[in-house]
Amino acid sequence: MNMEKEQIILVIATRNKGKSDEIKALLKDFPVEIRDLNDFGPIPEIEEDGSSFEENAYKKAAFTAKVLGLPALADDSGLEVEALGGKPGVHSARFAGPDASDDENNAKLLDEMRGVKNRKARFVCVISIAVPTGFALTYEGTCEGVILEEPRGTSGFGYDPLFYYPPAEKTFAEMTMEEKSKVSHRGMALRELQSEFDKVLVWIKQRLEEERRLLGFTEHEHD
Ligand code: IMP
Repeated sequence: MNMEKEQIILVIATRNKGKSDEIKALLKDFPVEIRDLNDFGPIPEIEEDGSSFEENAYKKAAFTAKVLGLPALADDSGLEVEALGGKPGVHSARFAGPDASDDENNAKLLDEMRGVKNRKARFVCVISIAVPTGFALTYEGTCEGVILEEPRGTSGFGYDPLFYYPPAEKTFAEMTMEEKSKVSHRGMALRELQSEFDKVLVWIKQRLEEERRLLGFTEHEHD
């Protein structure tokens, strides 16, 4: 089969249309068809129980690629606070409990940071791109800042009102979406991916060719 002429399909492992539209826009000039989980029937939820962002992103990407038989992209992100030994980390979404709201998570963070002098923190975002056989590529972006003693600003989500970004003299919740994505962990990781995406496509093609060769070989052996 001539892989050169074939359009690669990349599934974004999310049902969040905002997320997949952002990635679609970034990759619009590349010969790739972007889909997300809304384009497919129900597939089982995967538990994000890894001990690192990389593990969780890989788990989501590899599982989606395997179930759908197509290359898949997943991300995982969160906040790491230096004085808390990297917490909330992979537990960022559920720091104050399994169904915690953003306000509850922020209140818990302020509680744990009461009286703490070292307020350094960073947001981390890891993107994993996996093929059905399980091989994967990883991209990472980080953004360093400081945890305030009270929230400021109303935009964004999650820990944005407590995360002060010194170069802009604003919290993430005081920035527009455009301002934030120029410096944010997700923006960084996505731009790195974008700048290397031509190589990513070659890598995906090679992995898919290998997979087909392997399948052909196995079938032949069983003849
Ligand atoms: P997810 O990787 O998008 O599921 O994000 C995990 C959690 O990390 C979110 O629920 C937020 O609590 C936190 N988080 C990740 N990125 C951001 C951000 O840009 N601003 C604020 N909180 C974030």
